[in-house]
Amino acid sequence: MKVPMVDMLAGYPAIKDEAEIAVKNVMNKGNFILGEEVAKFEKEFAALNGSRYAVGVANGTDALRLAILAAGIKPGDEVITTPFTFIATTETISQTGAVPVFADIEPDTYNLDPVSVEKKITKKTKAILPVHLYGHPVDMDPIMALAKKHNLKVIEDCAQAFTAQYNLGGKAWKYTGAIGDCGTYSFFPAKNLGAFGDGGLVTTDDPKIYEELKALRNHGSKVRYLHDMEGFNSRLDTIQAAILSVKLRHVLKWTEMRNAVAAKYAAALKDVCATAVVRPNCRHSFNYYTIRFNSKATRDNEQKHLTENGIANQIYYPVSLHLQKAYAHLGYKRGDLPVSEKTQDEVFSLPMYPELTDEQIKTVTDAVKAAV
Ligand SMILES: *Cc1c(COP(=O)(O)O)cnc(C)c1O
Repeated sequence: MKVPMVDMLAGYPAIKDEAEIAVKNVMNKGNFILGEEVAKFEKEFAALNGSRYAVGVANGTDALRLAILAAGIKPGDEVITTPFTFIATTETISQTGAVPVFADIEPDTYNLDPVSVEKKITKKTKAILPVHLYGHPVDMDPIMALAKKHNLKVIEDCAQAFTAQYNLGGKAWKYTGAIGDCGTYSFFPAKNLGAFGDGGLVTTDDPKIYEELKALRNHGSKVRYLHDMEGFNSRLDTIQAAILSVKLRHVLKWTEMRNAVAAKYAAALKDVCATAVVRPNCRHSFNYYTIRFNSKATRDNEQKHLTENGIANQIYYPVSLHLQKAYAHLGYKRGDLPVSEKTQDEVFSLPMYPELTDEQIKTVTDAVKAAV
């Protein structure tokens, strides 16, 4: 049996009728650009996430770009982030004229290590950009403490972590993206909440950042054809917003289904490899399910076996960003961030989506066991 990484159509029957009505509604109204469905979705998203404001944008990369600008990051500023992420996280820092500064990751969650972050803080540091990788929250208590101490902004990359939760200060469960100054989200179809195309969003509790984000996504304009600054064309499509409103009503259930799949993977594989960690003060959103082996050779052999048996698998991410050609000018070398470098050689991710069946899960886990 073939098992894909994600199955875009598996979740469609559950929302088909509502989604098609929502799209037809927009088509019949013709309010394609910043129609009322966008504002409606933003309100619903903010309410679910426990954020004061939400601003829909064109994609998750632009969500980062606009959040970085709205948070006041300027050319020459340093932004500390993880090398173990998708390049969108750092492209948007560099393209603002700021400098990504890489700290190392934790060996169990693969997220930014607060101890390493602290060592990277300089006079030029203006922000920390934690990425809640695979859907496991970053350890936000020490990150927020560092930000407070050094007066830094915190922008959370929640592209893989919508509906993940963190128990802030051991007192209050918060959704990721409702902890720092801004949370950024992607509605790329394969994410926890996927559009039928591209989409993104930024959350914030700060009214000034909110106003700035709204202007930035629409050519820097608050009043039509009046521009206090330059901005972008980066609006969330009305049709996508209408679909996302429908899907939003299902997303918590989908996260539970993902967690149920994860529990089955963990039960079957716990004696075979390192399974996904979920810290007691965290709730995972399982955008990806990642396992780890004790050497590159074992990992590579596992991947080969799965691929030969029609089971999709993917390394997120095979080369840490500080070792990529695109960042050669930053001067990092192998050995600088040893945890990230070791992790890239030992992990890969298994198929993960809410509707994976028990039979599919068994096919995957049997294949992983057979290759050991
Ligand atoms: C998907 C993703 C992005 C970018 O989102 P797009 O909507 O594809 O632009 C940014 N950061 C991370 C960690 C991602 O996984």
